[in-house]
Amino acid sequence: SNDPDLQDLDDLADHWGEIIHARVTIISVDGVVLGESQANHEDMENHLNRPEVQQALAEGMGLSQRLSYTTNQKMLYASVPVEVDGEIAGFGRLALSLEQIDAEISRLQISILVFTVIIAGVTVGLGIVIAEYTSRPIRYLNEAVAVMDGPGLDRTIIPPSDDEIGELSESIESMSAELHEKIGTLQAEESKLSAILAQMSDGVVMVNDDGEVVLINQTAAALFDINLDEAYGQSLIRVLRHHEFVELWEKCRKKGKEQSLMVEFLNPSRFIQGVATSLGGYLKGNILLIFQDLTNVRRLETVRRDFISNISHELRTPLASLKALSETLLAGAMNDAPAAEHFINQIDVEVDALNQMASELLALARIESQETSFKFKPTKPCKLASKAVERLRLQAERASINLTVECQPDLPKINADGSRIEQVFVNLVHNAIKFTPPGGRIDVSVTRQNGHIQFAIKDTGEGIPPDDLIRIFERFYKTDKARSSGGTGLGLAIAKHLVEAHGGMIWAESDLGNGSSFIFRIPVLKTN
Ligand code: ADP
Repeated sequence: SNDPDLQDLDDLADHWGEIIHARVTIISVDGVVLGESQANHEDMENHLNRPEVQQALAEGMGLSQRLSYTTNQKMLYASVPVEVDGEIAGFGRLALSLEQIDAEISRLQISILVFTVIIAGVTVGLGIVIAEYTSRPIRYLNEAVAVMDGPGLDRTIIPPSDDEIGELSESIESMSAELHEKIGTLQAEESKLSAILAQMSDGVVMVNDDGEVVLINQTAAALFDINLDEAYGQSLIRVLRHHEFVELWEKCRKKGKEQSLMVEFLNPSRFIQGVATSLGGYLKGNILLIFQDLTNVRRLETVRRDFISNISHELRTPLASLKALSETLLAGAMNDAPAAEHFINQIDVEVDALNQMASELLALARIESQETSFKFKPTKPCKLASKAVERLRLQAERASINLTVECQPDLPKINADGSRIEQVFVNLVHNAIKFTPPGGRIDVSVTRQNGHIQFAIKDTGEGIPPDDLIRIFERFYKTDKARSSGGTGLGLAIAKHLVEAHGGMIWAESDLGNGSSFIFRIPVLKTN
């Protein structure tokens, strides 16, 4: 052990131990400890039986973990044989205390943990930044799409960028612009349609395949007394409440062909024509119902029919008399001079009546076709009335009727054609005389009513039944009682036209049995 070489081995062990911070042991091939870094190798027992040495001998490398007999610490040992010239000359052994390893490991673990936390922090931070960068354009897109609902995406909301999101933004923008244009066009079309529907004089109702009202206009609502807003989506029967028209719809749906139907309603009496047409294209299955109020047309037809029958009647009476008179004359009366004169006078009267009728008809036709020219000039109302009444005074006296005129003083002038207004007076007073029994009275009054001058001719005659009141201004219209009396039934029609040509209006009031009043108004002349 005093061998200088052996002393060197021990120093070597110390030296290595210092460098690698571990216990280094050098063992000879027979187990003697030659060098040791942590204990005195001379005090150490033979190490040949140490498990790591045995393993190194057997396998070329030995590992063991055990309590150290020398330091009495839990240690990890590693041992390898040292060969000189192909023969094992000894063993080198390294030992580390397990506590030391554990400490190293936990230091390492802490380092890893800290590192992990730092990495995680950085990752999360980066994630947030990246997410913000990628989600911003998507947020813009979201906003942009949300705005599309509203009225104005006419400006660019999305900032331009070069990536895919930028492209997407552009597509969405152009799509939205297109959409807006389309919506605008549609809205314009819709307002055109609803304007037309609202202005139409025909009632329009559209019904879908399930029999629900999908469209209805104001005229239809007024015709059937419907609340426009409540009608949408309701069944046709609930809306119209007329089974005839619902049947019309069903028939049209079944046959697929246009159907029409005229229905007369009572109270008030009305004629309504319905036409059902089935629609095609986008509207397939829907049926369009068009309603026309033909009451006025019907009324005009009646008036015309009555006109024809009346004119025939009016002509037949004088013509029949003329025929009878001429036959009587031919049968011999013409040889009896006084009788002949009587009959010829009769003929003269009948021809006068025919003449009168012809000229009245002509006058009426001229007024109706607006051929008659009027000579309007500012005229004092009282003068008009008294002049006309004077012309008829003699007739009234002959019929024993008291005719009076009362005129409010200082009345403003009216713009009138004097001879025409006189004609109106003549017609009205003449009628009053005709339909008032002897001893009665006719009171003519002229008053001011707001912007009008009102002329009233009130008699104490038989009066006019209410049903006839609205019709007496029609051509040839006569009440049944007046049938036998002379007259053409044209007088009031002419009066009405003349008054209306003056911008005025005429009407009659009557208390049956207690006389009638004929009243007309002409607007006061505006002086500026
Ligand atoms: P007519 O030439 O037959 O009198 P009008 O047009 O002047 O024709 O009158 C139409 C009808 O109105 C008359 O036939 C008569 O039945 C009724 N009528 C007009 N004026 C009066 C009146 N003052 N009183 C009663 N009935 C009247």
